Amino acid sequence: MKPYLANAAKTKEILERHGFYTKKGYGQNFLIDPRIPEGIAEAAGLTKADTVFEIGPGIGTLTQYLAERAGRVVALELDRKLEPVLKETLSGWDNVTLLWGDVMKQDLPRLFEENGVSGPVKVAANLPYYITTPILMRLFEYPELFSELTLMVQKEVGERMAAAPGGKDYGTLSLSVQYYADPEAVLAVPPSAFLPQPKVSSVVMRLSKRKKPRPECRDDAYLFAVIKAAFLQRRKTLSNALSAAPQLGTDRETVTAALTEMGLDPMIRGERLSLEQFAGLSDRLWEAGHSSASGQEKT
Ligand code: SAM
Repeated sequence: MKPYLANAAKTKEILERHGFYTKKGYGQNFLIDPRIPEGIAEAAGLTKADTVFEIGPGIGTLTQYLAERAGRVVALELDRKLEPVLKETLSGWDNVTLLWGDVMKQDLPRLFEENGVSGPVKVAANLPYYITTPILMRLFEYPELFSELTLMVQKEVGERMAAAPGGKDYGTLSLSVQYYADPEAVLAVPPSAFLPQPKVSSVVMRLSKRKKPRPECRDDAYLFAVIKAAFLQRRKTLSNALSAAPQLGTDRETVTAALTEMGLDPMIRGERLSLEQFAGLSDRLWEAGHSSASGQEKT
């Protein structure tokens, strides 16, 4: 069977026939322009050798396109009310496994194991926008489970993912994404591609995962704590912002010394530092903290 759902008339007909009302709180905006699911499936580079994990199949629009190209689709949906709809719309494809639950609460390695999925798998999704960043962070928690991610996100979120140092879009999201992956915008998507229409524009982003996170650093949890503190009040200088964060266990002098050692202005703000520079700074602060801690132990 060929994909047949991505148009407004068919989507309305199915929703009405099943008495289904879309829920704003679940980010339910369904695709009605065939070029978009086609573009996502194409950008995901799927072959019959691939298993693809879809978050939020909705009424199955993108799922049909993924099932055409991939060997297997494993789709996880939160809203159980969609079950009768998905049973109908995916009945023509025998390579789709439907799972129910909240992607934020699932034990993903266990879920995959129970369903005979061995990683790394590709991810393709038209994400529920209310939890885009938490979902991304969740996927990055399991580098061994996932390879390429092809994700529809709000346009501004896509811009933040790919932002370079210095601009207003650059921040924690840019650095977290770029630590794990190379982000690339592959398709601009207007509100008219969805039913109901969202107020915002969207973009399909391809995040090609790195084999190893870049750059190497001593302690990535500490690196992310430094980044978070740096952007908590982005108008502050780094030495002010980091010394005001007790969880980092550092002080103004140590931050200033580390920045000077790196050839950076001690008055610099976090928004000007590259990922590599953040890693260098984080390593220096981490080492200063550990050497003073071991010094204290000895006395
Ligand atoms: N894939 C469909 C499409 O492209 O037309 C629907 C995409 S819609 C933007 C997002 C989907 O994610 C909805 O079906 C929604 O119910 C589901 N969803 C929302 N929160 C979720 C969660 N925490 N876990 C899994 N699915 C979720």
